[in-house]
Amino acid sequence: MALKLLPNSTLALRKFNKYLRRNVKDQSASILRLWATQCEFVFAQQLRRSQQIFAHYAKIWEERALRELLKRFRGQVQRHAKGFVLSSAALLTFDWERERIELESVQEHMDDFQFLERLQLETIYCKQCRKRKQIDCRVEGVNYCCCPKNVTEMLSAEQNVYTVWEPYIEQKRMITWRQEIKPGLFAYKVYVEYPDVTAEDFLHVQIDVEYRKKWDNTAVNLEVIDEDTAKGSNSHIIYWEALWPKLFANRDYVYNRRFFIDRSRRVIMIVNKSVEHPKCPAKPHTQRVHEYWSYMVIKPTTAFNKPGVSFVLTYFDNPGLSIPKYITTWVAKKQMPDFLRQLHQATVNYAKAKKQNETRIIEFWDKHKDPGFEYPPDTLLGYSAEDFTEAQKQEEESSLQQDIPTVSCQ
Ligand SMILES: [Zn+2]
Repeated sequence: MALKLLPNSTLALRKFNKYLRRNVKDQSASILRLWATQCEFVFAQQLRRSQQIFAHYAKIWEERALRELLKRFRGQVQRHAKGFVLSSAALLTFDWERERIELESVQEHMDDFQFLERLQLETIYCKQCRKRKQIDCRVEGVNYCCCPKNVTEMLSAEQNVYTVWEPYIEQKRMITWRQEIKPGLFAYKVYVEYPDVTAEDFLHVQIDVEYRKKWDNTAVNLEVIDEDTAKGSNSHIIYWEALWPKLFANRDYVYNRRFFIDRSRRVIMIVNKSVEHPKCPAKPHTQRVHEYWSYMVIKPTTAFNKPGVSFVLTYFDNPGLSIPKYITTWVAKKQMPDFLRQLHQATVNYAKAKKQNETRIIEFWDKHKDPGFEYPPDTLLGYSAEDFTEAQKQEEESSLQQDIPTVSCQ
């Protein structure tokens, strides 16, 4: 914007000089030159001032963020100093027994696909013609309803656990809902289908941090900083710095990630929750996101190792400061779909690489593939050993069948 001001101002200055030359004829040439110089000086001053003001306002978000961060950082340093006197060893250990994400606390999300079915009926299907309602745009191949808008129905509709989710964005094989959790802060629910990748490969690409550094160009920094050694826990602490647009500090996260594979229900769930870890205090140049959670429930169309997968991702992320609306919209409408496209491509590439027998990949599956039943243990959900064998058999049988078309919004 500041640059755009420049040509206009120069033009105005030239016109003014011309005016002086033409109209102030009774003045001597030297006085005229003096005047012109003076005017140029004042103009230049004003221009510089307006540029400064602009730059100042553009930086305000970042300055506010920085102040907030420095305050937090100082507090942390003080706390750490105190802690150091008490016990320096305790500072660097993470209490897995206390911090591990337990299945009981996230169990309800295992049923996210049942929730999704009802959510679709309640929010994106027309009650009269049973066709799809339009969300933000029309997507090719979707049969949309043409009924006139029923205002009374819209006004009298009562809010329930489904209708609090507002349909937000639709793209090919992707629908996003959102729900206002705090003023101006939304949780998002995204439903996606990938017909050509397997759940197994998809899980791998989701959790392989080293690989993600290669394909996700928004991941400035990504490290596993701690691992739970308890058997079958599949829990890690991850540090993640995400690239943000110019004028904004990058956001960084420290989160606890655990995945559960339930072969009898045939779902995989990856849970992420922000956590504090002594190895990762907030940094001065990034904005730490202290409140972040996500649940990704992955469901193969037929079997874990056959192409066809869909997932429901529910997430919330509180950046800690009030963020301009255009940024939240940018994240939901641009960054998220871009990420999902990259994720899909990365999974396709991974599957190709796996076919060519890359050692690292084979090692990964040797390690993770066949405990057969990582979690939860049979007793916890009331499954007996027979139930499990039965479920496994069903899975094998269904994997022999042709690809079953998914219930979808296409
Ligand atoms: Zn209709």
